[in-house]
Amino acid sequence: MKPPVFEYRDPRSLDEALGLLNEYGDDSSILAGGQSLIPLLNLRLARPDYVIDINKVPGLDTIEVLPGCVRVGALTRIRRLERDPKIRAVAPALSDAFQNIAHPQIRSRTTIGGNISHADPSSELPGVLAAYDGRVQLTSSSGSRWVSWSDFFVTVFTTTRESNELLTAVEFPTDQNFSYEFEEIARRPGDYPLAGVCAGISLDGSQVRAARLSAIAIADRPIRMTAAESALVGVDISNAAVRQAASQAAAAEINPMDDEHGSAAFRRGLVSTLVKRTLDRLAGVPS
Ligand SMILES: Cc1cc2nc3c(=O)[nH]c(=O)nc-3n(C[C@H](O)[C@H](O)[C@H](O)COP(=O)(O)OP(=O)(O)OC[C@H]3O[C@@H](n4cnc5c(N)ncnc54)[C@H](O)[C@@H]3O)c2cc1C
Repeated sequence: MKPPVFEYRDPRSLDEALGLLNEYGDDSSILAGGQSLIPLLNLRLARPDYVIDINKVPGLDTIEVLPGCVRVGALTRIRRLERDPKIRAVAPALSDAFQNIAHPQIRSRTTIGGNISHADPSSELPGVLAAYDGRVQLTSSSGSRWVSWSDFFVTVFTTTRESNELLTAVEFPTDQNFSYEFEEIARRPGDYPLAGVCAGISLDGSQVRAARLSAIAIADRPIRMTAAESALVGVDISNAAVRQAASQAAAAEINPMDDEHGSAAFRRGLVSTLVKRTLDRLAGVPS
């Protein structure tokens, strides 16, 4: 398959890239790792007049572990992120999620900005961003704004990014009191998951102070499971019945659809199992 005809631009600075986005807007597509955009072009599902390749824009491939957050520049490759010891030290669940994305060859091209901008509801990182209560930085010629995950993801492949904006950074808060686990179920290693869960809890002894549970691949965007979160607050995480109740609450509140990969009931069961598994791990007991 060959892509449709387009004009190629490869800006050498952020200002130049933003200027091109300002000029071409909706008629352009941003090229980062190309692992989703190139297939979309080849299948003619995307037909931009201009492709703006940001790979030569300096300063967008940063990894910063700051007090209170991990901040990653949009062009940083997933393969580099998964091997970064600083991230593993402060956000091990994030490192685990990176390793679940596709295959190493694909991860060595895939960028965090491209992965999150693509807004695939089965993608791991949007779900992890939701559990961490993270945000993204959108930059245009007029300046930058930070947008929370919940305001960013709209529906399948759709975000609130304006056509003159570039996603420039992603931020995962690292509240010292929260511990996280990420788990997914896929048919084969490297496949998109059939379901995935990221669970975070903040404990006072063994009592849950706060909980954040997100799920992917069950709705048109990543979701938080607030009934399951509420079921956990104030209870003793070491009690197996409590973890079971939270997994049942999660299964009851989600509303997955039937599709060619499995029925709604099947996905509900997967999410319930994944909530139980992640909570068991957070409680330090084998599933
Ligand atoms: C075989 C295979 C298996 C895969 N499995 C998984 C998986 O299990 N989990 C998963 O999450 N993904 C998976 N992917 C998708 C892969 O991770 C994609 O590369 C990723 O979703 C897009 O990242 P990219 O950097 O390649 O972006 P690109 O393909 O370059 O761009 C993707 C989209 O984002 C836009 N974009 C890119 N960068 C920016 C930016 N900085 N600001 C605004 N818009 C931007 C582009 O215009 C385009 O619309 C798989 C891909 C393949 C080919």
